[in-house]
Amino acid sequence: MSGQSDEYERSLAFSEIALAQIKALRQPAYPRNYEVWYAYATGYNPTLNQTINETITRNGTLTPADVDQIYETYLSPARLSDRIENVGGQIVDEIEQVMAMIDAAVGSASQYTESLAHATQDLGTAKDRDGLRAIVETLVRTTRDMEKNNTRLESSLRASKQEINQLQVNLEAVRNESLTDPLTSLANRKYFDSSLDKFIAQSAASGEPMALLLADIDHFKAFNDTFGHLTGDQVLRLVAIAFKQNVKGQDIAARYGGEEFAIILPGTTLRSALTVADQVRRAVMTKELMKRSTGEHLGRVTVSIGAAGLRRGETAQSLIERADSCLYAAKRCGRNRVICETDPEVASVAPSKVA
Ligand code: GH3
Ligand code: MG
Ligand code: MG
Repeated sequence: MSGQSDEYERSLAFSEIALAQIKALRQPAYPRNYEVWYAYATGYNPTLNQTINETITRNGTLTPADVDQIYETYLSPARLSDRIENVGGQIVDEIEQVMAMIDAAVGSASQYTESLAHATQDLGTAKDRDGLRAIVETLVRTTRDMEKNNTRLESSLRASKQEINQLQVNLEAVRNESLTDPLTSLANRKYFDSSLDKFIAQSAASGEPMALLLADIDHFKAFNDTFGHLTGDQVLRLVAIAFKQNVKGQDIAARYGGEEFAIILPGTTLRSALTVADQVRRAVMTKELMKRSTGEHLGRVTVSIGAAGLRRGETAQSLIERADSCLYAAKRCGRNRVICETDPEVASVAPSKVA
């Protein structure tokens, strides 16, 4: 897994790119500018990068106002807890407004009922045509008022409904973001953990099989050392695509850690899981890597995969440990392979954690 010095080198590489951009556009190196360009350099926020690229293509530069706008749109509110709070606050406001509308509607309906009761009473005591006319006019007026109130209420409720629909979309986006790994767009570790628990419980209840694959890129440290962390990050994205493209339905492909991935396969036997694992392994291996900016050929990367089928009554931790032991065996036996517990290679190595 990524050590402190890797993190150090990577952050320096990002900051160099950020400063180079600031200099190229002759912008002041204020923290806000720097933060925008640093985020750009990491590529973790693809829509921020797209907006910057489009603005520069369109206008030839990025003005301080553009930077402020981009910061406000993607970074300031992008702090997830702020955004959750924001959406939460808007929902509370909207609910309060709807409650106030309901109160007003209940008030005007009971007023109307009262007016009708009065009119019924007055009808009993009306002596002549003028008296009757006055009662009818009052009834017509209050009915019109009621009608106006209803129309107003209807349009306010319609506006609120639209607002709530939009809030639902925002809430879903925030939720997805909190469960997604920003570099690869795969499920993050938090989502992996909760999904694994959920599928194990389902499998225990239904008796359906399920399997887990744990994968780790082979010799990735050497790849990073040779081509740099930024290129390494691009490769992580590419490997993630191979994982994504080989899962379907309820399967969950996740980034388990730095250069480690996992696939949860609900309703899947170990035998079928091995087929999926081998498809992923081949998909990764066949990708010819090339640096887009320079056209430099970077060779290929491979992955080792450990597979385990859920046993009756087994916990998530135990399933992970068994898949991890198989991954370790795959590394020991030469890498770029898929191993499960029935393979003889597993017995020949002591179970241990893969770094
Ligand atoms: P092995 O085949 O035994 O797995 O060898 P390895 O070099 O892949 O294993 P090791 O665990 O020693 O190194 C993992 C490397 O993965 C360390 C770090 O350079 C790289 N890495 C981890 N996370 C990231 C990341 O987010 N981005 C990049 N670019 N590299 C990462
Ligand atoms: Mg590793
Ligand atoms: Mg590795």
